[in-house]
Amino acid sequence: MTSIKTVGFIGIGNMGEPMAANIKRGGFEVIAFDLDPVRAKAFAEAHGARAITELAELGKACDAIVTMLPTGKEVREALFTMQGGALAANMKPGAIVIDMSSADPVGTRTLGKDLAARNLKLVDAPVSGGVTRARDGSLAIMIGGDAASVAAVRPVLACMGGKLFEVGTLGCGHAMKCLNNFLAATSFAAAAEAVTVGRKFGLDPEVIADVVNVSTGRSFASEMLIKQHLLSGTFGTGFALGLLAKDVKIAADLAEQIGIDAPVGRLTRDLWADARDALGGDQDHTRAALHWEKRALPSAAE
Ligand code: NAD
Repeated sequence: MTSIKTVGFIGIGNMGEPMAANIKRGGFEVIAFDLDPVRAKAFAEAHGARAITELAELGKACDAIVTMLPTGKEVREALFTMQGGALAANMKPGAIVIDMSSADPVGTRTLGKDLAARNLKLVDAPVSGGVTRARDGSLAIMIGGDAASVAAVRPVLACMGGKLFEVGTLGCGHAMKCLNNFLAATSFAAAAEAVTVGRKFGLDPEVIADVVNVSTGRSFASEMLIKQHLLSGTFGTGFALGLLAKDVKIAADLAEQIGIDAPVGRLTRDLWADARDALGGDQDHTRAALHWEKRALPSAAE
């Protein structure tokens, strides 16, 4: 396996933009592609990289392709459907796709087989830490794949991550990620519900957060989201409601696919899907709390 020099980056969004910038800063050649060519062009101009609109050219030029797209569906589209499947058809033999999107782990294993049939490799390497840690290159990265491919992509991942976890075979990264986000989604929903109940009884929500944050109920949601985004009315995490609803569904579906009864997963999936359907997937995910509160206190909305 040749060492990676040129990296194609597909998906210059909230996360992809700063992640691709860190790969460039790490000394790799970076070529950006996005469905919205304006984003790729702006990235290239800001960071002295290249932007490309032809997927065939991207495939020919790169030793590895990073995908940072909404779901596994868009990853498949970019590889096999868009521009007549030009990307997969033109990638160098042995080149590696690094899927850093939060995708469905079962679909990832299927994708790995489809790529292997074309002499291409796949590593799944989803991330946690949000836009802030994407910017400072300190993301937690959960890596699944065969040992040789993982070793080959580690230098690229090290540009973006503070902690690189090799969690198992292909798909294990995506399984780990959906389980993490299931926990994040559950604890945010629970913290928001505690605020609603406490406020109705007469507690000050700021006090609720202060107490919980030095007590056993604390979580990332209570420490980093409740005051900063919900109570302040900022709703500016940069993580869309539709994406978190998607992650919780992946986790609940995974349990079903492997025959595990996971009632908390089902309930959490339904809560987030309900908020997404009511508010729209583009809203910041912390706004879901407003929807749940409105549902819980119907008279407050009148
Ligand atoms: P985003 O919507 O900001 O960015 C997605 C980008 O992909 C956009 O620029 C869009 O134009 C582009 N795109 C969509 N379909 C495409 C296609 N077929 N081909 C090429 N480009 C296409 O999303 P994001 O917040 O950057 O999230 C990306 C992934 O990272 C998701 O899977 C998400 O769940 C995960 N994630 C997000 C966060 C966060 O805090 N935002 C944190 C961890 C993981």
